[in-house]
Amino acid sequence: MNPNNLLNFSGGPGALPESVLLQAQESIISVSEVGLSILGISHRSDWFAAVIAELETNICNLLGLSKEYHVLFLQGGGTQQFSMVPMALLRGKTSPAEYLHTGYWSGKAIPEARKEGPVRVVWNGEDNGFHHLPSDEELSFSPDAPYIHYVSNETVEGLQFHRVLGRDDVPRICDMSSDFLSMPCEADRFSLIYAHAQKNIGPAGVTVVIIRDELLRDLPDNLPSFMDYRIQADAHSNFNTPPVFAIYVTLLVTRWLINDIGGLSRMHEINRSKAELIYGLLDRSDAFYRGRAESRDRSMMNVAFNLATPEMDSQFLKEAVAAGLFGLSGHRTIGGIRASIYDAVTFPAVEKLVDFMEDYKSRHTVGPHASRAYYRHSTAQ
Ligand SMILES: *Cc1c(COP(=O)(O)O)cnc(C)c1O
Repeated sequence: MNPNNLLNFSGGPGALPESVLLQAQESIISVSEVGLSILGISHRSDWFAAVIAELETNICNLLGLSKEYHVLFLQGGGTQQFSMVPMALLRGKTSPAEYLHTGYWSGKAIPEARKEGPVRVVWNGEDNGFHHLPSDEELSFSPDAPYIHYVSNETVEGLQFHRVLGRDDVPRICDMSSDFLSMPCEADRFSLIYAHAQKNIGPAGVTVVIIRDELLRDLPDNLPSFMDYRIQADAHSNFNTPPVFAIYVTLLVTRWLINDIGGLSRMHEINRSKAELIYGLLDRSDAFYRGRAESRDRSMMNVAFNLATPEMDSQFLKEAVAAGLFGLSGHRTIGGIRASIYDAVTFPAVEKLVDFMEDYKSRHTVGPHASRAYYRHSTAQ
């Protein structure tokens, strides 16, 4: 096994469990039940129909979903859902859909929705540089909105909602791309959840959409067939050639969550202890490491932080790679450092990272000039 895979802190595509990688490797040569390479198995085969059925069942069981939902496996990533959601639910409507602008990814969803109908931005974190999320007192939602949309975990800034937002009488839609299946999520309170696989639960190429059946009843006619949730649901995620390999690997990850981890409550405990280990170090580092997010909104999946200056960030990243720690660069739009600690990143891997950070800190000290330089840098943005 390639030991680098164990120390992959990439923001996405992210780490996958070692046992899953080994099974995926085997399937490239031959899937034993079929006797063919997975790259050459028909999407119309009975074997693949069983893969889809098992993956749907596993996701329903992991989330404790009731029977009132369809689980779809689509293409186009999170980005296509930014358009597909408003095409289905906002086109022709007069009351605005309500969106929260809490970071980079929710900011990508809003302009796509505006192409289909009116949008009200309920809260905008741009002015505070996306360092925190709104409290309930800062939010008021209209009963007339066609739906409310938010991102549960802002992958770039490392911000995560630790509660469900919105009102129960308005369809609640959530982009869970970077924290899906990292913990239980009260899925029954959502009308539509979407999550591409490549951050937390599989390879790029497949996006999970969980949609409440009643939402399917009232969609506009004349949507392009691929973009029509009804057609995708009727076709059992096999409307056109789906990404067979990506769906299979995602199935393997759900089996791992069920059989090796023991479900989402246990996954949550593990993820919490991983996050506490890193945030604990940030908090006792005397501002050597500076967390981006305010404490109450910290993400358990993406720990974004800075050192005193951008130069020190680069030096840190250079030494991290030399120490065999991969994928720690912050998102290209904000720089800095980001440790993504998705489900497949193990507790021992996080311990290694934290040991490295402790050691790095003991070898570098911050002078007063560096601090002032950082102050100018961070307020200039
Ligand atoms: C990465 C990301 C996206 C974009 O997904 P693509 O599959 O690249 O389109 C959308 N939403 C969130 C929360 C993300 O982290």
